Amino acid sequence: HTDADAADATGETLRTPIVAVLGHVDHGKTSLLDRIRGSTVIEGEAGAITQHIGATAVPLETVSEIAGSLVDPTDFDLPGLLFIDTPGHHSFSTLRSRGGALADIAILVIDVNDGFQPQTIEAIDILQRTETPFVVAANKVDTTPGWNPQENTPIQQSYDAQSDRARSTLDERLYDLIGDLSDHDFSADMYWRVQNFANNVGVVPVSAETGEGVPDLLTVLMGLSQRYLKDAMAIDVDGPGAGTVLEVKEQKGFGTAIDVVLYDGTVTADDTIVVGGTGDPIVTDVRALLQPRPLAEIRTEKRFEEVDSVTAAAGLKIAAPDLDDAMAGAPVRVLGNREREDVVTEVEAELAALGVTTEEQGVVVKADTLGSLEALADAFGEAEIPIVRAEVGDVAPRDVTVASTADEERHETVIAFSVDVLDDAADRADTEGVRIFESDVIYRLVEEYEEFIEERERAQQDAILDNIARPARFRLLPDHTFRQNDPAVVGVEVMTGTLKQNSRVVNFEGNQPERLGQVKGIQEQGEDVDQARAGERVSVAIDGPTVGRQIEEGDELWSEIPEKHAKVLEQELTDDIPADELEALHVYLDKHRQRDPFWGK
Ligand code: GDP
Repeated sequence: HTDADAADATGETLRTPIVAVLGHVDHGKTSLLDRIRGSTVIEGEAGAITQHIGATAVPLETVSEIAGSLVDPTDFDLPGLLFIDTPGHHSFSTLRSRGGALADIAILVIDVNDGFQPQTIEAIDILQRTETPFVVAANKVDTTPGWNPQENTPIQQSYDAQSDRARSTLDERLYDLIGDLSDHDFSADMYWRVQNFANNVGVVPVSAETGEGVPDLLTVLMGLSQRYLKDAMAIDVDGPGAGTVLEVKEQKGFGTAIDVVLYDGTVTADDTIVVGGTGDPIVTDVRALLQPRPLAEIRTEKRFEEVDSVTAAAGLKIAAPDLDDAMAGAPVRVLGNREREDVVTEVEAELAALGVTTEEQGVVVKADTLGSLEALADAFGEAEIPIVRAEVGDVAPRDVTVASTADEERHETVIAFSVDVLDDAADRADTEGVRIFESDVIYRLVEEYEEFIEERERAQQDAILDNIARPARFRLLPDHTFRQNDPAVVGVEVMTGTLKQNSRVVNFEGNQPERLGQVKGIQEQGEDVDQARAGERVSVAIDGPTVGRQIEEGDELWSEIPEKHAKVLEQELTDDIPADELEALHVYLDKHRQRDPFWGK
């Protein structure tokens, strides 16, 4: 009911573009939105900012008031901007409308001091994939040393008021940022130098703290929208409403309700709606449409007021029966005078398009919305990590159960993106040995999982190496026979490889390796040790031979490597053993293969 008054000749109306604010944590998304919300005339006056559910509408009059000389309102016929305004809820960037992005345009906030960070890159990937036009707000320019703040002024005016030193420091920071963008294949420049925003990303220096540059930011958003989104903004205001579920939650006095961003048509309090859910689409009758009360009335007890109808673009709360299974990120459609089955099919098709393909085996993935589930699945797909089950919602005990029955240990894992882990799920994970990875950053989940797998593989290799015979060539030292036999105790020097406790001992004097006995103990300077490395001199107790009969001082002996072990060493562990040991292995294999070319293959 706010933005539907800019009718053009075709009878269609241009709606407000939906703006998302993305960026790394602490780079200033909330502050920037607060600044835009705060820098405005009092609610109730003409052209005031209005608070929606999950969104803030800034009408064109207000944009031009904030932007001052930068904007001539007669240049525009779009009615303003609708900011999705819960940026803490990171996955707004992944919300969809009819397969595209819910946001028509975006602000990517980057702290000029901090530059590119994981969530910056993640946001860029998402913007790129969904082909959402965006501008970069290079935030916190007021932190430049020596900065002289110019409250709410356009950035060039503020820039002109700075010292040379402050200007050049800021310039440097901004060029670093432009460099970062170009490293990610975005040709970017200061917004006033960008001629063609379709090919170049505009960078707007701003401060959410002082409001400097905010006029520019709004101007650029308005201009971009007008230029590139005008066609997409034409809607039939009387058409059946279409929207996306932001959140499903209890509303006092109304039961389960859904927060929705409506991007097309109108929804009325008498409508029947179709909503995507965890099961079949839900077909239900609207019980109430709720919007926040205007500021002037905020003191009344109820925060929301019931309205008769809402027209896109807008954020609202819809109360209706049977919404318990509705899903964040799912489509909402007003039935209107269409066939119920057609609309149900449409919603199903959209859900299927958003769906994630799962494999027979893999990890369990949970996320807060369908869109974020999709983004997560893409990232895991790229990293070639299979997914066995992907759902929207908190981590519940049954998710842990699914993970615990995985075929391989590395799949006994639950990946939780922007959701909670229920207490009994955490308990069960503990007892079942299931790992749960939690983060609000997709990148980090992929990295943490990969690190976990690598660590596990390393531990497994170590365990294998502990249990496998290792090649060693060693020599009995002259005049170091401490005991003749039972066992023979002799001084040896390990020439290559690793001589381990319990190794069997052979020589290669005949054309067959001859088994001589087994190492029963190794001592280095009187201390018992488990092994001796190449170059070390130790005394060794060998059970079996007698010095002077089967073995002699000066003899060259080998640790015996069973054929199976030799095969594992040569085929799987060559990267895990030291170079000298590898050399010993090759000599050992050669000796065997002179007799049997296929030995150990
Ligand atoms: P978000 O996590 O991206 O929503 O970041 P916030 O808006 O919560 O900002 C994080 C911190 O940076 C807060 O302490 C803000 O006060 C501070 N901050 C945000 N924008 C600016 C700015 O333009 N200048 C300065 N000096 N501080 C800022």
